[in-house]
Amino acid sequence: MKEILWTNRLGDIVYLTYPGWELLPGIRHGFSTRLGGFSTGPFSAMNLGFRGGDSPSLVAANRAHFLGTIWGRQEERLFYGEQVHGTQVCVLDRQVIRSGVQTIPQADALVTAEKEVLLGGFSADCLLALFIDLDHRVVGVAHAGWRGTINGILSHVVTVMQGQWYSEPGKIQCLLGPCIQSCCYEIGEEVEEVAANSPWSRQVVFREGMRKGRQNLDLMDTNRQILKESGIKKEHIFASQYCTCCHGDLFYSYRRVGGQPTGSLMGLIFLAG
Ligand SMILES: [Zn+2]
Repeated sequence: MKEILWTNRLGDIVYLTYPGWELLPGIRHGFSTRLGGFSTGPFSAMNLGFRGGDSPSLVAANRAHFLGTIWGRQEERLFYGEQVHGTQVCVLDRQVIRSGVQTIPQADALVTAEKEVLLGGFSADCLLALFIDLDHRVVGVAHAGWRGTINGILSHVVTVMQGQWYSEPGKIQCLLGPCIQSCCYEIGEEVEEVAANSPWSRQVVFREGMRKGRQNLDLMDTNRQILKESGIKKEHIFASQYCTCCHGDLFYSYRRVGGQPTGSLMGLIFLAG
C-alpha cells in the first residue's frame, strides 16, 4: 500500500500533509518531521516539544521557524493540551482563547470552531489524530498513546463535537498521523490489563509479537475500530503507514532510543481566517 501522506519541502523544512485535505478551502493541516530547524544531538533538528530536555530557546526557535515558514503564523496563536495520557477534550471557545493560556491543563484533545486558532499536538511515537467537520467548520486534534487510545479518546472527541456543534459522526473526517506501528510496539501486561477493563476492549487490536509470549499493540487499527464504532465512516478515516520507530531519519521515537532523551514532532490543524 502507498503512504497517504505527501512529503513537502520548503527551505530546510520537510513536513507531511494529506493531499485530500489540502484542497479543502480554509483548512490547513500538517505534521512536522525532524528535518529542518536548529536542535542538535538527540533532538536534531526540528524538535517542537519542550518536555524532552532540549534547550527551551532552541525549541522556541524551531516552533517560530516551523509555524512562520510553512504557515505564516505566530506561536502566540498555538494552543495544545498538557497531554497527560487522559481522555479530556477541551473546547477552545472565545473565552478560553482570550485567556491566553496556550497549554490547556489536563487536556489531550482540543476542538474549536474559531478561525486562526492553531491546534497542536506533540508526540514521539504516540498517535496524533486530526479531525474536520466541514459542515459546521470545526477542527480538532487528539494525542493518543496506548492509554488514551484504549480509553477511547478519539471517541470522546466525536462526542464533544456532537454535543457542542451537532456534528454528525457520519460526516466527520479523521486523519491519523505517523505513530509507532504494530511492527515495533511490543507491550507489557499493564497494557493488556487496562485493555481488558476498558469499555473499548473489543476494539483493541493486538498482534503477535516478535518475542514469544509477548504481544504488540496496533495503535492505528485500534483507533480505526474505535472511530468506526463512534459512527465515523471508514472512507472518512485516513491513516498514515509511517512507523515512527522504523523511520529514525524522519521521526522522533521514544521507543527506538530506549527511553533516552528525544524530541517531538507536531501535528497541526486550524481554520484559516
Ligand atoms: Zn516499526
